[in-house]
Amino acid sequence: MRRLKVVVWVGLLSVVVSAFALRATADQALGARNVAMVVTGGTVVTMDGGRRVLSPGAVAIDGDRIVGVGTPDEIGRAFASKRVIDTTGKIVLPGLVNTHGHAPMVLYRGLADDLALMDWLQKYLFPAEAKTVSAEMVRVGTRLAALEMIQSGTTTFADMYYFEEEIAKATKAAGLRAVLGQTIIRFPVADAKTPDEALARSETFIKAFKGDSLITPAVAPHSAYTLEKQTLLASRDLALKHDVPLLIHLAETEDEVRIIKEQAELTPTGYLESIGFWTPRTLAAHSVWVTDEDISILKRRGVGVSHNPESNMKLASGTAPVPKYLAAGVALGLGTDGAASNNDLDMFEAMRQAAFLHKLQSRDPRVVPAATALELATLGGARALGMEREIGSLDTGKRADLIVVGMHRARQTPRYDALSHLVYATHGDDVETTIVNGQVLMHERKMLTLDEAAVLRDAEAFAVRVRAAVAR
Ligand SMILES: [Zn+2]
Repeated sequence: MRRLKVVVWVGLLSVVVSAFALRATADQALGARNVAMVVTGGTVVTMDGGRRVLSPGAVAIDGDRIVGVGTPDEIGRAFASKRVIDTTGKIVLPGLVNTHGHAPMVLYRGLADDLALMDWLQKYLFPAEAKTVSAEMVRVGTRLAALEMIQSGTTTFADMYYFEEEIAKATKAAGLRAVLGQTIIRFPVADAKTPDEALARSETFIKAFKGDSLITPAVAPHSAYTLEKQTLLASRDLALKHDVPLLIHLAETEDEVRIIKEQAELTPTGYLESIGFWTPRTLAAHSVWVTDEDISILKRRGVGVSHNPESNMKLASGTAPVPKYLAAGVALGLGTDGAASNNDLDMFEAMRQAAFLHKLQSRDPRVVPAATALELATLGGARALGMEREIGSLDTGKRADLIVVGMHRARQTPRYDALSHLVYATHGDDVETTIVNGQVLMHERKMLTLDEAAVLRDAEAFAVRVRAAVAR
């Protein structure tokens, strides 16, 4: 009986749905559909399945989604909007995806550079963090990082830091999309005295933000060499329990390789494999010191890799085998890492440096061409984070995360090839308009979700405390 009722209801429902579908088609045939926004006139680099570059092209946006991509004529016939953004002479592309960083560390930008890693950590970074990391520091720092990211075209970022709930609130207020993980580490830190406390904090954080339209909560065990096996596995279990991403630093330095080898007679990747650490949604940052066998493990386990060329160069960590990752088909994205080791969050620069680094390393200028670098910063990053169905390209149905880049500077003139200019001649400052989830966060360089002057003033005020913390 119950089954019969269900069948009747489903039958009725499908009649109603088809009636609506017919109606929608009829409306479109009669006239254009009204949508929230149309971006039209510029070159549209879609990064879609055919890697189409529409010149000129147009994108229609309604709510938080892209509802149409095509020529200005096609989009003009199908859609009408009170809000039209004219991008003539400019380039429109998917918002950039920064797959690894520590947003609040922008407050330690340039505090100390050009030091040996242990000197840098022990004399500057650790004392500064011990004395200044707080909920307030994280709020002030995240707002500054969000300002910089919006101004340079990043629309999604992955983050591992402390007081992650404050990072989430500041990120949402700025309108950015992010994958955020509360750091879990062996020693006492500002927001957790023990790894168990950090795990409990992580779960509270996940419950608070699961299902949010902008924030994807994650679990972020710091690394294999700063955590016991039981904490690594508890982190994995927490990520599986809530079906959220797992973020970890992996094989960043030769020291890390040595430490894990002494402990377990394995590479860091081999060790995590041996304990069954991977989940279907793991992102490994750096992954510089890996063997061919490690690469095949990462590929087999579907682990995303975040390549951070600028941080790896500045800290002289080493060169990640990017051509090998690409050949193996590993889900590879680009990251800036924290601003203490970069020192900015400009993903255009990350693209250019990635291309240059691997050309030099392989002594082959054909390695990491512009199209590949751009893919790493968009669709590749989305894939590495397991978000390729939602972001990373301009496709109907995906989230409306896109940027408009000006192309009128001396260094961009003349222009023969859009991809070449985006990777080799464009800076973050050339981004004019940033849209996330259908919301315009910056238009023609004017900030709409953040009070730029207040963000800069608060950061300068906080820097006084950072300076005092490392004064000797
Ligand atoms: Zn990092």
